[in-house]
Amino acid sequence: MNFIKRFRVEPGASVDLEKIDPGFHGDFANDVEAKDELQRNLARITELQRTFYADRRHSLLIVLQGIDGAGKDGTCWHVISAMDPQGVQVTGFKQPTPEEQEHDFLWRVHPHAPQRGFISIFNRSHYEDVLVVRVHKLAPKDVWKARYDFINEWERLLAVENNTTIIKFFLYISKEEQLQRFKERLDDPAHQWKISASDYTERDKWDDYIKAFEAALSRCSTEYAPWYILPSNHKWFRNLAASTIIADTLEGLKLETPKPTVDIEEIRKLYHQAKEAGEKAR
Ligand code: AMP
Ligand code: MG
Repeated sequence: MNFIKRFRVEPGASVDLEKIDPGFHGDFANDVEAKDELQRNLARITELQRTFYADRRHSLLIVLQGIDGAGKDGTCWHVISAMDPQGVQVTGFKQPTPEEQEHDFLWRVHPHAPQRGFISIFNRSHYEDVLVVRVHKLAPKDVWKARYDFINEWERLLAVENNTTIIKFFLYISKEEQLQRFKERLDDPAHQWKISASDYTERDKWDDYIKAFEAALSRCSTEYAPWYILPSNHKWFRNLAASTIIADTLEGLKLETPKPTVDIEEIRKLYHQAKEAGEKAR
């Protein structure tokens, strides 16, 4: 299966999430069957990121969005585990601070756009400003409606101006799966800290969120910054899909380890001189 083709939202397409199965898991029956493929992907990402960092011509932005419980934190952790932390920056976007609220909605995200050679992961993102803001009417309709175009233009700026490759993942789970995950959190002392009453008030707005996601996925999937809808009821399949798409995308960049800026043969002479001097001194 070609994951990029299978899960990419074609630019201009109108997304209807009802037609997509969040429980999809391809040809793999379970996590055990998918394990080798996942490990291969993670190894590819490790190798590719090393070259990516040395190459310094590109940057990569990965955006993670999804309803509460969809697995944004888990995906983040899984993907990053394959990368050298020196070349990665993760930023989580929470409710805007009073200072952030005094600026345009892109002001707080722009400083976290990746520099060349680096990978930035957004755990939530500027899309919150057309999601939670739309659902909760935190801004008037004409304000959030104008944001889809601003988002497209901002992402185009990153892509064109800074050679930034952009991958946006929408982690799609079903309403039943969300409740199941909330239950697991209730029962697991290690995850109880993640629980809040707002999980349930937000859940009541499920249909509004789905509508808001559909609009963002439809209006903001572009050639230079495509959305991918990842069926995420199965965490292992979500990890498999995310890692495949990241590895394939990095591979497509035709990364190169830069040529040394020094004359290696000259430096080799210096090495031999140093070695001889060291032997004499002994
Ligand atoms: P969490 O990611 O679970 O720690 O929660 C972060 C919270 O911040 C979520 O409820 C988001 O909806 C909220 N949030 C993030 N960005 C914005 C925004 N631009 N405006 C309002 N709320 C936001
Ligand atoms: Mg959360």
